[in-house]
Amino acid sequence: MNQFRCPICGQEFNCSQESMPGGYYLINCKSFNFSFIIGNELLEDEMSNETRGKAFSLIAEHLLHKRIYQDRNTQDIRWRFIYNPSYSINDNDPPNYINIAERINSFPMTAIDAANRALINLATLFPLYGTDFCVRKQERRLLYDISDWDNPTIGILTLLVEMGLLQHTVSYDQFHITAKGWERIDLLLHKEKEINQGFVAMAFKDETNSIREAFRKAVTSAGYAVIIMDEFEHNNQIVPEMFYEIEISKFVLVDVTFPNYGAYYEAGYAHALKKEVIVCCRESEYTANYPHFDIAQRPIIIWKDENDLVERIKKRIKATVT
Ligand SMILES: [Zn+2]
Repeated sequence: MNQFRCPICGQEFNCSQESMPGGYYLINCKSFNFSFIIGNELLEDEMSNETRGKAFSLIAEHLLHKRIYQDRNTQDIRWRFIYNPSYSINDNDPPNYINIAERINSFPMTAIDAANRALINLATLFPLYGTDFCVRKQERRLLYDISDWDNPTIGILTLLVEMGLLQHTVSYDQFHITAKGWERIDLLLHKEKEINQGFVAMAFKDETNSIREAFRKAVTSAGYAVIIMDEFEHNNQIVPEMFYEIEISKFVLVDVTFPNYGAYYEAGYAHALKKEVIVCCRESEYTANYPHFDIAQRPIIIWKDENDLVERIKKRIKATVT
């Protein structure tokens, strides 16, 4: 092998690599204080530069946010990364093993995705707002730049400046995160918690059973898990679990055919978290009581019967939930 060049930061000195038994290397990247283990396939010449670039970007991103694997006994263990496209990590593997080949498709697909994730990484490296920082080529992996180490241009920074998320300071090679940038970070970090789940907010009584079942059918056939809180809680209290379930849901469905303060409260909470809130009402009640139902900016789904409701919700989820 040629002279060592750190696969994370590109430095030829300071960082180090030690051979380990079983075809592994222990890498110590001094630029970021990362210490981790990789399979030697990640350094071999057969791997294309593009794949290697993506793999080490994902490794650097992982280590930046989770330096060490911590098990239940709070023992710290180094992460171990392998690259094997024909293998899936399973329960028999130690929990600190990661097959980067299984995650390679999570490398940013679009420029905007790369910009958003690069912004999160920069905020993690430079967490104090108002700080001016220099971005060196050592940070290239964390900016999802897979071009050659000697290439001086880091296009993603220009993109971040053009998006108004970063600003050049007086000295041209320094940057800081703008107010808009911090707002974006807040939004992104919130989104990260979300799972493929929809939350149902409505009055629960015998007359509403068919609406509840229509909601369940619509959400599950749109490919999401459904959370219906009365299946957990039978009293009318707003419980911490409910807040949590709304926070991790991608959208909230609320039916106002039978008015219910709890459902409005839940919909309001979701709205404040910038979730998609889909408001539904049966046509007969809507016509009789309008404009009492004016609780959302978005058009209400006014449904005729439960079959109509299922189809309309499925369409709305497809159109608005990402
Ligand atoms: Zn390094």
